[in-house]
Amino acid sequence: MQNLKEYLRPGSATEAVRMKQQYGRRAVYLAGGSDLLVHRPPHVEVAVDILHADLGYVLDGGDDLVIGGAALLRDAEIAVAGLTGNMLALAFRDTAPWLIRNSATVAGNIANASPAADSVPALLAVDAELLVLGDREERVMLSDVLVGPHQTTLGDRLIREIRIPQSVIRRRGIFKKLARSHSDIAQVNMAVSYIDDGDLVKDVRIAVGAVAPTAVRATGAEALVEGHAPADVDLDRVEKAVRDGIAPISDWRASAEYRSRMAGVLVRRALQSLFAGLETGVAG
Ligand SMILES: Cc1cc2nc3c(=O)[nH]c(=O)nc-3n(C[C@H](O)[C@H](O)[C@H](O)COP(=O)(O)OP(=O)(O)OC[C@H]3O[C@@H](n4cnc5c(N)ncnc54)[C@H](O)[C@@H]3O)c2cc1C
Repeated sequence: MQNLKEYLRPGSATEAVRMKQQYGRRAVYLAGGSDLLVHRPPHVEVAVDILHADLGYVLDGGDDLVIGGAALLRDAEIAVAGLTGNMLALAFRDTAPWLIRNSATVAGNIANASPAADSVPALLAVDAELLVLGDREERVMLSDVLVGPHQTTLGDRLIREIRIPQSVIRRRGIFKKLARSHSDIAQVNMAVSYIDDGDLVKDVRIAVGAVAPTAVRATGAEALVEGHAPADVDLDRVEKAVRDGIAPISDWRASAEYRSRMAGVLVRRALQSLFAGLETGVAG
């Protein structure tokens, strides 16, 4: 970081928060650094390195699957392999090339708040919550933390844990990422998951990324699928509802029109694959 003056290495989450609060906006939490060392924000003078603060775990926490606030993408990817038809594992895998995943974290991908962050739609599609630590510890919905491109409600608070409800083990799901190349940032990404209840589709979650200031749930599309038998789902209406719920921009990666069209198409393909019993989320 261009104006860095101090590097701090707390041994616990509480100590990390205390250090961050002491310096306020002049300090950042530093995890893998794969976003921070690229963006090098000029206002940052103090790095609070959280990789030694005992937050690198991924574990079964009873009611939740728990991803620590400094757990590496690669460790999380391995821990969730097979869950939700591999939806989560594929999203973590697509969040960065292999070398980066061995040093970058899931929490860093959330807190960086890129509209195209690849782990976020998959986490939204399993109702992930964050355990955040500031003056006190509280549990907040992931969707409530992300407010815009590189903007969160976190302030000085630390993401101590990402918590995924254990109902995830009953979910089926697919993650898809459309990008110019395998290692590029998404033009569109999306995750779909639901619970098979006999012949009916229940608890539907559809989340799309890179098509709005933050990744968003496509609630209009969810309502058209919820409680229906797969054969009764009108995929044309679902596709339109996805497009109606987003506000993509044009940039050098894709036009707004392309993003809008492909968001609907990817969701349609994901549902078709799930209804046909094919869960592997190969992009495209
Ligand atoms: C070559 C390359 C390719 C990439 N490709 C992709 C891609 O395809 N898709 C994608 O989504 N991303 C991609 N990324 C971005 C990046 O790898 C991810 O966003 C990564 O998950 C960030 O994690 P980190 O640990 O490196 O975060 P850092 O860079 O250390 O931190 C990022 C931000 O999160 C904050 N932060 C970190 N941990 C916490 C915490 N526990 N609590 C509160 N705030 C915290 C930091 O203060 C900072 O603001 C790529 C990066 C590189 C270098």
